[in-house]
Amino acid sequence: MHEDMTVVQRCQQIIAEWLKGMGLELKPSKTRLAHTLHKYESQQPGFDFLGFTVRQFPVGKYHSGKNSKGSLLGFKTFIKPSLKKLKLHAESIRSVIKTHKAAPQEALISRLNPIIRGWANYYSTVVSKKIFSGMDKLTYQQLRAWGKRRHPNKNHSWVANKYWQTIGNEHWVFANRKEGKNTLRLKKHSETPIIRHIKVQGERSPYDGDWIYWSTRMGMHPEAAARVATLLKKQKGICAHCGLYFKDGDLLFVDHITPRKKGGKDTKENRQLLHRHCHDTKTANDDKTVRSTNDNSQIIEEPYEAKVSRTVL
Ligand SMILES: [Zn+2]
Repeated sequence: MHEDMTVVQRCQQIIAEWLKGMGLELKPSKTRLAHTLHKYESQQPGFDFLGFTVRQFPVGKYHSGKNSKGSLLGFKTFIKPSLKKLKLHAESIRSVIKTHKAAPQEALISRLNPIIRGWANYYSTVVSKKIFSGMDKLTYQQLRAWGKRRHPNKNHSWVANKYWQTIGNEHWVFANRKEGKNTLRLKKHSETPIIRHIKVQGERSPYDGDWIYWSTRMGMHPEAAARVATLLKKQKGICAHCGLYFKDGDLLFVDHITPRKKGGKDTKENRQLLHRHCHDTKTANDDKTVRSTNDNSQIIEEPYEAKVSRTVL
């Protein structure tokens, strides 16, 4: 991003040359120049990147951003969740509620919570406050319809009393019971505090070989399952089998240290993160030892597999 168009165009040339050296090129259909404040070649201002919309808005002097020398810019920069991702998220909440029409409330809550938590975390570093409360409103409306449908002969307050609780000072919590043991409550998007993003350290690049930094940062990606993210951090980005760093694009596998078929439990202590191919080697060895003691053992599929997404240019 730069205030001078010719600088941006020059950057495009330099990037194209750099990619050429690696046998790659910018794809015209995925490349465009945009203005963040004004219309440009009849396109709306702003651009979407990795699920965010970056855009600037003209504002008066009291709200204006300032440049590094402290003079007023006349506009303010907002980074928000993109409309496309907003719709996708609303859609995934809707479809979970739809497929849990007859399921117990606990099952619905357990299914929705990780979706809400993951999404809210991903967008917790940008301008999301209003969007979060909007999402909560939308979720509430759908849950209300969900409750009503289950009890067609009861009125609204009966349904509300059954599925919504007051917990502490908080009203309208979608939960199976008031406080106590085994209370399961639905997370709200707006519970997630907005903490502005800390910029990637100036000189860092995925090509500088600092895989610890990048592997642990990868753990913050919303598409990395929570277990994978936790293990990435715990293992400092290193495969527990071969001792090499995980790299962008590697297939990762959550493995049970003591295999399930040998009585190993699915607990935090018994999980480790491996390269997919390292997992295959380990399993082959595990099987040998299992077969020698128990010929009737079954091969049980391990449940988690994740592909860490690739860097997008
Ligand atoms: Zn490995």
